[in-house]
Amino acid sequence: MILVLVPDIRLDSPEYKQLLAYLANLPGISTRVHTEVGVEQSLIEVYLIGNTKTLSIEDISNLPCVDRVVRISEEYRVLGRHRNDDRPTHFEYNGIRFGQDTLHVFAGLCAVDTLEHVEMMMKVLSDHGQVCTRMGAYKPRTSPYSFQGHGKACLPYVFDLAGKYGIKVIAMEVTHESHVEEIREALHQTGDPTGVMLQIGTRNTQNFELLKIVGRQQDFPVLIKRGFGITLDESLNAAEYLASEGNRKVIFGLRGMKTNMGDPHRNFVDFAQVPVVKRLTRMPVCIDPSHSVGARAQSPEGILDMMHVTAQGVIAGANMILADFHPVPGKALVDGPQAMLIKEFPHFLEDIRIAREAYQQRTALAEHYREV
Ligand code: PEP
Ligand code: MN
Repeated sequence: MILVLVPDIRLDSPEYKQLLAYLANLPGISTRVHTEVGVEQSLIEVYLIGNTKTLSIEDISNLPCVDRVVRISEEYRVLGRHRNDDRPTHFEYNGIRFGQDTLHVFAGLCAVDTLEHVEMMMKVLSDHGQVCTRMGAYKPRTSPYSFQGHGKACLPYVFDLAGKYGIKVIAMEVTHESHVEEIREALHQTGDPTGVMLQIGTRNTQNFELLKIVGRQQDFPVLIKRGFGITLDESLNAAEYLASEGNRKVIFGLRGMKTNMGDPHRNFVDFAQVPVVKRLTRMPVCIDPSHSVGARAQSPEGILDMMHVTAQGVIAGANMILADFHPVPGKALVDGPQAMLIKEFPHFLEDIRIAREAYQQRTALAEHYREV
Protein backbone atom coordinates (compact mmCIF):
# COMPACT_ATOMS: atom_id res chain seq x y z
CA MET A 1 0.00 0.00 0.00
CA ILE A 2 1.27 3.48 -0.83
CA LEU A 3 0.25 6.58 1.08
CA VAL A 4 0.70 9.66 -1.04
CA LEU A 5 0.99 12.57 1.36
CA VAL A 6 -0.29 16.10 0.78
CA PRO A 7 2.33 18.19 -1.08
CA ASP A 8 5.06 20.07 0.75
CA ILE A 9 4.47 18.44 4.09
CA ARG A 10 7.21 19.20 6.61
CA LEU A 11 9.04 16.24 8.09
CA ASP A 12 9.22 17.99 11.47
CA SER A 13 5.51 18.82 11.61
CA PRO A 14 3.44 17.29 14.44
CA GLU A 15 0.98 15.76 11.91
CA TYR A 16 3.75 13.91 10.11
CA LYS A 17 5.16 12.61 13.38
CA GLN A 18 1.66 11.54 14.44
CA LEU A 19 1.24 9.63 11.17
CA LEU A 20 4.56 7.81 11.52
CA ALA A 21 3.81 6.95 15.13
CA TYR A 22 0.46 5.45 14.09
CA LEU A 23 2.07 3.42 11.31
CA ALA A 24 4.84 2.20 13.59
CA ASN A 25 2.18 0.64 15.80
CA LEU A 26 0.58 -1.42 13.03
CA PRO A 27 1.48 -5.06 13.70
CA GLY A 28 3.60 -6.83 11.02
CA ILE A 29 3.94 -3.74 8.85
CA SER A 30 7.08 -1.80 8.16
CA THR A 31 7.32 1.53 6.37
CA ARG A 32 9.66 2.98 3.80
CA VAL A 33 9.52 6.68 3.07
CA HIS A 34 10.30 8.01 -0.40
CA THR A 35 10.79 11.73 -0.94
CA GLU A 36 10.57 13.18 -4.41
CA VAL A 37 11.92 16.72 -4.51
CA GLY A 38 10.47 18.45 -7.56
CA VAL A 39 10.92 21.95 -8.94
CA GLU A 40 7.46 23.05 -7.91
CA GLN A 41 6.77 20.85 -4.93
CA SER A 42 8.08 17.99 -2.84
CA LEU A 43 6.10 14.80 -2.63
CA ILE A 44 6.39 12.18 0.04
CA GLU A 45 5.16 8.65 -0.42
CA VAL A 46 5.07 6.17 2.42
CA TYR A 47 5.22 2.51 1.44
CA LEU A 48 3.62 0.06 3.82
CA ILE A 49 5.33 -3.30 3.51
CA GLY A 50 3.86 -6.47 4.99
CA ASN A 51 0.34 -7.78 5.22
CA THR A 52 -1.73 -4.70 4.40
CA LYS A 53 -4.80 -6.66 3.28
CA THR A 54 -6.57 -6.16 6.58
CA LEU A 55 -6.09 -2.38 6.56
CA SER A 56 -9.05 -0.31 5.49
CA ILE A 57 -8.30 2.20 2.74
CA GLU A 58 -10.82 4.54 4.30
CA ASP A 59 -9.17 4.51 7.75
CA ILE A 60 -5.74 5.05 6.26
CA SER A 61 -6.99 7.85 3.98
CA ASN A 62 -8.26 9.69 7.04
CA LEU A 63 -4.88 9.74 8.78
CA PRO A 64 -3.14 13.11 9.09
CA CYS A 65 -1.16 14.31 6.01
CA VAL A 66 -2.50 11.56 3.77
CA ASP A 67 -3.73 12.83 0.43
CA ARG A 68 -4.61 9.47 -1.11
CA VAL A 69 -3.93 5.77 -0.83
CA VAL A 70 -2.99 3.34 -3.60
CA ARG A 71 -3.34 -0.36 -2.99
CA ILE A 72 -0.55 -2.09 -4.89
CA SER A 73 -0.14 -5.54 -6.26
CA GLU A 74 2.95 -7.53 -5.33
CA GLU A 75 4.69 -6.83 -8.61
CA TYR A 76 6.84 -3.80 -9.37
CA ARG A 77 5.69 -2.01 -6.26
CA VAL A 78 7.34 1.32 -6.98
CA LEU A 79 7.43 1.46 -10.78
CA GLY A 80 4.31 -0.59 -11.48
CA ARG A 81 0.97 0.77 -12.58
CA HIS A 82 -1.56 -0.23 -9.98
CA ARG A 83 -5.33 0.01 -9.95
CA ASN A 84 -6.55 3.62 -9.45
CA ASP A 85 -2.93 4.69 -9.61
CA ASP A 86 -2.68 8.25 -10.83
CA ARG A 87 0.91 8.82 -9.73
CA PRO A 88 3.00 10.59 -12.39
CA THR A 89 4.48 8.76 -15.35
CA HIS A 90 7.16 11.36 -15.98
CA PHE A 91 10.18 13.03 -14.44
CA GLU A 92 12.35 16.05 -15.22
CA TYR A 93 16.09 15.99 -15.65
CA ASN A 94 18.30 18.92 -16.63
CA GLY A 95 15.31 20.81 -17.97
CA ILE A 96 13.99 17.91 -20.04
CA ARG A 97 10.79 16.08 -19.34
CA PHE A 98 10.79 12.32 -19.77
CA GLY A 99 7.45 10.57 -19.63
CA GLN A 100 5.14 8.04 -21.16
CA ASP A 101 3.80 10.90 -23.27
CA THR A 102 7.07 12.42 -24.57
CA LEU A 103 9.54 11.37 -27.26
CA HIS A 104 13.28 12.05 -27.34
CA VAL A 105 15.92 10.94 -29.80
CA PHE A 106 19.33 9.94 -28.39
CA ALA A 107 21.41 9.58 -31.52
CA GLY A 108 25.17 9.39 -31.11
CA LEU A 109 28.30 7.31 -31.04
CA CYS A 110 28.10 3.76 -29.75
CA ALA A 111 31.61 4.32 -28.44
CA VAL A 112 33.58 7.53 -28.18
CA ASP A 113 36.71 7.15 -30.32
CA THR A 114 38.10 10.56 -31.21
CA LEU A 115 37.36 14.13 -30.17
CA GLU A 116 36.82 15.02 -33.84
CA HIS A 117 34.11 12.38 -34.27
CA VAL A 118 32.38 13.46 -31.08
CA GLU A 119 32.38 17.05 -32.31
CA MET A 120 31.07 16.13 -35.77
CA MET A 121 28.25 14.17 -34.16
CA MET A 122 27.31 16.88 -31.71
CA LYS A 123 27.36 19.53 -34.40
CA VAL A 124 24.87 17.62 -36.53
CA LEU A 125 22.63 17.08 -33.50
CA SER A 126 22.67 20.77 -32.71
CA ASP A 127 22.05 21.68 -36.39
CA HIS A 128 18.88 19.61 -36.16
CA GLY A 129 17.68 20.98 -32.84
CA GLN A 130 18.54 17.88 -30.82
CA VAL A 131 19.50 18.14 -27.15
CA CYS A 132 20.16 14.50 -26.27
CA THR A 133 22.79 12.02 -27.42
CA ARG A 134 24.47 8.71 -26.63
CA MET A 135 28.22 8.47 -26.06
CA GLY A 136 29.77 5.22 -24.82
CA ALA A 137 32.89 5.60 -22.70
CA TYR A 138 32.80 2.26 -20.88
CA LYS A 139 32.12 -0.59 -23.29
CA PRO A 140 31.32 -4.14 -22.19
CA ARG A 141 32.81 -6.29 -24.96
CA THR A 142 32.47 -9.95 -25.75
CA SER A 143 36.19 -10.36 -26.32
CA PRO A 144 38.73 -9.16 -23.76
CA TYR A 145 40.95 -8.16 -26.70
CA SER A 146 38.41 -5.73 -28.17
CA PHE A 147 38.51 -1.98 -27.53
CA GLN A 148 36.99 -1.42 -24.08
CA GLY A 149 36.19 2.29 -24.43
CA HIS A 150 38.31 5.29 -23.47
CA GLY A 151 36.77 5.39 -20.00
CA LYS A 152 37.26 8.46 -17.89
CA ALA A 153 39.97 9.85 -20.19
CA CYS A 154 37.38 10.99 -22.74
CA LEU A 155 34.84 12.42 -20.33
CA PRO A 156 36.23 15.99 -20.11
CA TYR A 157 36.12 16.60 -23.86
CA VAL A 158 32.80 14.83 -24.30
CA PHE A 159 31.22 17.02 -21.62
CA ASP A 160 32.87 20.22 -22.86
CA LEU A 161 31.66 19.59 -26.39
CA ALA A 162 28.18 18.76 -25.13
CA GLY A 163 28.12 22.15 -23.43
CA LYS A 164 29.35 23.85 -26.60
CA TYR A 165 26.57 22.29 -28.70
CA GLY A 166 23.75 22.63 -26.21
CA ILE A 167 23.41 18.93 -25.42
CA LYS A 168 21.46 18.49 -22.20
CA VAL A 169 21.51 14.74 -21.63
CA ILE A 170 24.06 12.09 -22.66
CA ALA A 171 23.13 8.42 -22.28
CA MET A 172 26.28 6.65 -21.10
CA GLU A 173 26.65 3.05 -20.02
CA VAL A 174 28.29 2.25 -16.70
CA THR A 175 29.48 -1.24 -15.85
CA HIS A 176 31.03 -0.60 -12.44
CA GLU A 177 30.22 1.65 -9.52
CA SER A 178 33.51 3.53 -9.96
CA HIS A 179 32.22 4.80 -13.32
CA VAL A 180 29.41 6.72 -11.62
CA GLU A 181 31.94 8.51 -9.47
CA GLU A 182 34.19 9.24 -12.46
CA ILE A 183 31.28 10.75 -14.37
CA ARG A 184 30.23 12.86 -11.40
CA GLU A 185 33.80 14.06 -10.94
CA ALA A 186 34.32 14.90 -14.63
CA LEU A 187 31.04 16.81 -14.78
CA HIS A 188 32.06 18.77 -11.73
CA GLN A 189 35.51 19.55 -13.12
CA THR A 190 34.13 20.75 -16.44
CA GLY A 191 31.55 22.95 -14.70
CA ASP A 192 28.46 20.76 -15.25
CA PRO A 193 28.00 21.72 -18.91
CA THR A 194 25.58 18.84 -19.55
CA GLY A 195 23.68 16.00 -17.89
CA VAL A 196 24.17 12.25 -17.99
CA MET A 197 21.66 9.42 -18.06
CA LEU A 198 23.37 6.31 -16.70
CA GLN A 199 22.79 3.28 -18.86
CA ILE A 200 22.65 -0.27 -17.54
CA GLY A 201 23.42 -2.49 -20.50
CA THR A 202 21.74 -5.74 -21.36
CA ARG A 203 24.69 -7.72 -19.99
CA ASN A 204 24.23 -6.11 -16.60
CA THR A 205 20.44 -6.09 -16.33
CA GLN A 206 20.63 -8.58 -13.47
CA ASN A 207 23.83 -7.32 -11.91
CA PHE A 208 21.93 -6.67 -8.70
CA GLU A 209 24.79 -5.09 -6.79
CA LEU A 210 25.36 -2.58 -9.60
CA LEU A 211 21.62 -1.91 -9.72
CA LYS A 212 21.53 -1.21 -6.00
CA ILE A 213 24.42 1.24 -6.24
CA VAL A 214 23.00 3.05 -9.25
CA GLY A 215 19.58 3.03 -7.57
CA ARG A 216 20.93 4.60 -4.40
CA GLN A 217 22.17 7.73 -6.16
CA GLN A 218 19.62 10.25 -7.29
CA ASP A 219 21.80 12.65 -9.27
CA PHE A 220 21.41 10.82 -12.55
CA PRO A 221 18.40 9.18 -14.19
CA VAL A 222 18.87 5.64 -15.43
CA LEU A 223 18.15 3.85 -18.68
CA ILE A 224 17.99 0.14 -17.97
CA LYS A 225 18.01 -2.17 -20.96
CA ARG A 226 16.04 -5.36 -21.03
CA GLY A 227 18.21 -8.41 -20.47
CA PHE A 228 18.64 -10.13 -23.84
CA GLY A 229 18.05 -13.66 -22.55
CA ILE A 230 15.57 -13.29 -19.71
CA THR A 231 11.84 -12.72 -19.49
CA LEU A 232 10.24 -9.31 -19.55
CA ASP A 233 9.10 -9.85 -15.97
CA GLU A 234 12.68 -10.52 -14.86
CA SER A 235 13.87 -7.34 -16.57
CA LEU A 236 11.06 -5.25 -15.06
CA ASN A 237 12.04 -6.58 -11.64
CA ALA A 238 15.59 -5.46 -12.38
CA ALA A 239 14.26 -1.95 -13.02
CA GLU A 240 12.36 -2.19 -9.76
CA TYR A 241 15.69 -2.78 -7.96
CA LEU A 242 16.73 0.74 -8.98
CA ALA A 243 13.48 2.25 -7.77
CA SER A 244 13.31 0.28 -4.55
CA GLU A 245 16.70 1.75 -3.64
CA GLY A 246 15.32 5.25 -4.17
CA ASN A 247 15.89 6.26 -7.80
CA ARG A 248 12.68 6.37 -9.76
CA LYS A 249 13.98 8.34 -12.69
CA VAL A 250 14.09 5.15 -14.66
CA ILE A 251 13.53 4.50 -18.37
CA PHE A 252 13.13 0.97 -19.63
CA GLY A 253 14.89 0.05 -22.87
CA LEU A 254 13.93 -2.62 -25.40
CA ARG A 255 16.89 -3.71 -27.51
CA GLY A 256 15.94 -7.08 -28.97
CA MET A 257 16.36 -10.63 -27.71
CA LYS A 258 19.24 -12.98 -28.33
CA THR A 259 17.93 -15.87 -30.43
CA ASN A 260 18.60 -16.87 -33.99
CA MET A 261 14.82 -16.80 -34.59
CA GLY A 262 15.44 -13.14 -35.38
CA ASP A 263 18.00 -13.82 -38.11
CA PRO A 264 19.15 -12.02 -40.15
CA HIS A 265 18.76 -9.29 -37.53
CA ARG A 266 21.35 -9.27 -34.77
CA ASN A 267 18.58 -9.71 -32.20
CA PHE A 268 14.88 -10.53 -32.36
CA VAL A 269 13.18 -7.13 -32.38
CA ASP A 270 10.81 -6.86 -29.40
CA PHE A 271 9.23 -3.46 -29.92
CA ALA A 272 5.75 -4.99 -29.91
CA GLN A 273 6.23 -4.87 -26.14
CA VAL A 274 6.41 -1.06 -25.96
CA PRO A 275 2.70 -0.83 -25.00
CA VAL A 276 3.06 -3.81 -22.67
CA VAL A 277 5.73 -2.08 -20.60
CA LYS A 278 3.66 1.12 -20.57
CA ARG A 279 0.65 -0.82 -19.32
CA LEU A 280 2.51 -2.73 -16.60
CA THR A 281 4.65 0.15 -15.35
CA ARG A 282 4.83 3.93 -15.25
CA MET A 283 8.25 4.00 -16.90
CA PRO A 284 8.88 5.77 -20.20
CA VAL A 285 9.98 3.20 -22.78
CA CYS A 286 13.07 3.43 -24.96
CA ILE A 287 13.75 1.47 -28.13
CA ASP A 288 17.20 0.74 -29.51
CA PRO A 289 16.91 -0.03 -33.24
CA SER A 290 20.70 -0.24 -33.66
CA HIS A 291 21.39 -3.06 -31.23
CA SER A 292 18.17 -4.84 -32.25
CA VAL A 293 18.77 -4.92 -35.98
CA GLY A 294 22.53 -4.59 -35.92
CA ALA A 295 23.04 -4.08 -39.65
CA ARG A 296 22.52 -1.56 -42.42
CA ALA A 297 20.17 -3.80 -44.42
CA GLN A 298 17.33 -2.08 -46.22
CA SER A 299 13.99 -2.95 -47.76
CA PRO A 300 13.21 -2.57 -51.48
CA GLU A 301 11.70 0.90 -50.86
CA GLY A 302 15.12 2.11 -49.73
CA ILE A 303 14.29 2.27 -46.02
CA LEU A 304 16.83 0.85 -43.59
CA ASP A 305 15.51 -1.98 -41.38
CA MET A 306 16.68 0.16 -38.44
CA MET A 307 14.34 2.93 -39.60
CA HIS A 308 11.48 0.49 -40.11
CA VAL A 309 11.73 -0.88 -36.58
CA THR A 310 12.14 2.61 -35.14
CA ALA A 311 8.90 3.62 -36.85
CA GLN A 312 7.23 0.47 -35.53
CA GLY A 313 8.29 1.30 -31.97
CA VAL A 314 7.27 4.96 -32.26
CA ILE A 315 3.87 4.18 -33.77
CA ALA A 316 3.32 1.94 -30.74
CA GLY A 317 4.13 4.79 -28.34
CA ALA A 318 7.89 4.60 -27.64
CA ASN A 319 9.24 7.54 -25.61
CA MET A 320 12.93 7.42 -26.39
CA ILE A 321 15.07 6.24 -29.27
CA LEU A 322 18.68 5.26 -28.73
CA ALA A 323 20.48 5.02 -32.05
CA ASP A 324 24.05 4.54 -33.22
CA PHE A 325 25.41 7.04 -35.75
CA HIS A 326 28.97 7.62 -36.86
CA PRO A 327 30.60 10.18 -39.14
CA VAL A 328 32.88 7.50 -40.63
CA PRO A 329 31.45 4.06 -39.71
CA GLY A 330 34.45 2.33 -41.31
CA LYS A 331 36.62 3.88 -38.62
CA ALA A 332 34.27 3.18 -35.67
CA LEU A 333 35.95 1.11 -32.96
CA VAL A 334 32.68 -0.52 -31.88
CA ASP A 335 29.58 -1.52 -33.88
CA GLY A 336 30.53 0.29 -37.10
CA PRO A 337 28.35 -2.00 -39.27
CA GLN A 338 25.19 -0.88 -37.50
CA ALA A 339 25.97 2.83 -37.40
CA MET A 340 23.74 5.08 -39.45
CA LEU A 341 25.41 7.80 -41.49
CA ILE A 342 25.38 11.46 -40.59
CA LYS A 343 23.74 12.23 -43.92
CA GLU A 344 20.91 9.85 -42.98
CA PHE A 345 20.11 11.80 -39.83
CA PRO A 346 17.55 14.23 -41.35
CA HIS A 347 15.78 11.27 -43.01
CA PHE A 348 15.75 9.41 -39.69
CA LEU A 349 14.23 12.39 -37.86
CA GLU A 350 11.60 13.00 -40.55
CA ASP A 351 10.60 9.35 -40.54
CA ILE A 352 10.25 9.45 -36.74
CA ARG A 353 8.07 12.56 -37.02
CA ILE A 354 5.71 10.75 -39.40
CA ALA A 355 5.49 7.72 -37.08
CA ARG A 356 4.91 9.94 -34.03
CA GLU A 357 2.08 11.76 -35.80
CA ALA A 358 0.54 8.43 -36.69
CA TYR A 359 0.80 7.36 -33.03
CA GLN A 360 -0.93 10.56 -31.95
CA GLN A 361 -3.67 10.03 -34.49
CA ARG A 362 -4.09 6.48 -33.22
CA THR A 363 -4.47 7.62 -29.61
CA ALA A 364 -7.00 10.28 -30.69
CA LEU A 365 -8.91 7.60 -32.59
CA ALA A 366 -8.90 5.31 -29.57
CA GLU A 367 -10.19 8.19 -27.45
CA HIS A 368 -12.99 8.79 -29.94
CA TYR A 369 -14.07 5.15 -29.92
CA ARG A 370 -13.89 5.03 -26.12
CA GLU A 371 -16.42 7.84 -25.98
CA VAL A 372 -18.91 6.53 -28.53
C1 PEP B 1 24.99 -0.04 -26.12
O1 PEP B 1 23.91 0.60 -26.11
O2 PEP B 1 26.05 0.44 -26.46
C2 PEP B 1 24.97 -1.46 -25.75
C3 PEP B 1 26.09 -2.13 -25.48
O3 PEP B 1 23.73 -1.96 -25.73
P1 PEP B 1 23.21 -3.34 -25.13
O4 PEP B 1 23.54 -3.32 -23.68
O5 PEP B 1 21.74 -3.27 -25.43
O6 PEP B 1 23.91 -4.43 -25.89
MN1 MN C 1 27.02 -0.96 -29.41
